[in-house]
Amino acid sequence: MQAMQVRSDFPILTKTIYKKYPLVYLDNAATTQKPRQVVEAMTEEYYNVNANVHRGVHFLSQQATELHEGSRETVRKFLNAQSTGEIVFTRGTTESINLVAQCFSDAFMKEGDEVIVSEMEHHSNIVSWQLQQQRKGIKLRVIPITDDGQLRLDEYEKLFNDRTRIVSVTHVSNVLGTINPVKDIIRIAHEHGVPVLIDGAQSTPHMKVDVRELDCDFFAFSGHKIYGPTGIGVLYGKEQLLEKLPPYMGGGEMIKNVSFERTTFNALPFKFEAGTPDYVASTGLARALDYVSNIGLDAIEAHERDLTAYAMQRMAEIEGMKIYGPADVNIHDAVISFQVGNIHHLDMGTLLDRLGIAVRTGHHCAEPLMRRLGIKGTCRASFALYNTREEVDALVAGIQRVKQMF
Ligand code: PMP
Repeated sequence: MQAMQVRSDFPILTKTIYKKYPLVYLDNAATTQKPRQVVEAMTEEYYNVNANVHRGVHFLSQQATELHEGSRETVRKFLNAQSTGEIVFTRGTTESINLVAQCFSDAFMKEGDEVIVSEMEHHSNIVSWQLQQQRKGIKLRVIPITDDGQLRLDEYEKLFNDRTRIVSVTHVSNVLGTINPVKDIIRIAHEHGVPVLIDGAQSTPHMKVDVRELDCDFFAFSGHKIYGPTGIGVLYGKEQLLEKLPPYMGGGEMIKNVSFERTTFNALPFKFEAGTPDYVASTGLARALDYVSNIGLDAIEAHERDLTAYAMQRMAEIEGMKIYGPADVNIHDAVISFQVGNIHHLDMGTLLDRLGIAVRTGHHCAEPLMRRLGIKGTCRASFALYNTREEVDALVAGIQRVKQMF
């Protein structure tokens, strides 16, 4: 894959920052930039199709419905789910996890029942369960990590007992870049008869995901992290499990019949989609998935792995550099959290910005992980399919320059 060839699809990448520096956008784990193909498809729909979906008899409504349901089929294919009934549109990973936490615990969990999460989770996969802890008295059990940021599978196995009801872990850490052995995690959970939710926010943009091959029970991801629009995401769930969950929110779309005495609910996936869906964003998401599928996730993965290896090697040349997460790039995805000497991560991020280099600083919505690492935050560079070695060089030169200032 040639990153230079795809860059012209992303108009924002030609921007000059502070009227001086070419943009070096290395904040892709927070959100990715959008190719023309995505934005133009959405504009086209607003200009030429727009009408509310489902149940409309008129031409535009039927066309909009076809687009929206066609997008669901694109997502199904992308994840290799069995049916479109297993693909629920949400606002993003956060909403997908909250949906499972609430509906699954309502269906299957009583006071004292347990969910297993890990020490490297994003807040969305901690707090969603803590809300159920407050509502229902469920308990969180936590898989510890090693000093280089890998899940301790030996400890994981010990967490199972007769109160364990679900495991909910991230595929890839948004801080450490660790690619977790989710297949083993799922297999072990299933040996105990326990279903697994995988947070795929940071994996779907970078590697091929096949939910049937993984055999996960739930899988969540966000459109905006995979070159799609904000405000849309996906929850995949195995049909037999989704069938057993109560609805998440009440309203239009999710019902079959309503009376004041008794309301019945719509079939999957609509039972979980109350209200007017963001049918334009679903088009944008589908075009984004087409975009990465056309390039090929294997090619994207190879390009980003090369870039990550190059960045780790070049950054390690900087005196005082500490890179978090595994040293092995085969299990370290395109996210590099780092700290240089005692330069505060906020100072580093702010000064890099003055050179046109966009990185993220802070706790990255993973405060328990920061506590485990004994730090308040890091500086984080994260790559996408359009990043280049030249941009890594710019980052390294930028860090060197900031270092000289201190
Ligand atoms: N999980 C992980 C691992 C993430 O990186 C993020 C986003 N930073 C989320 C969940 C939440 O995603 P969103 O804000 O799109 O709902």
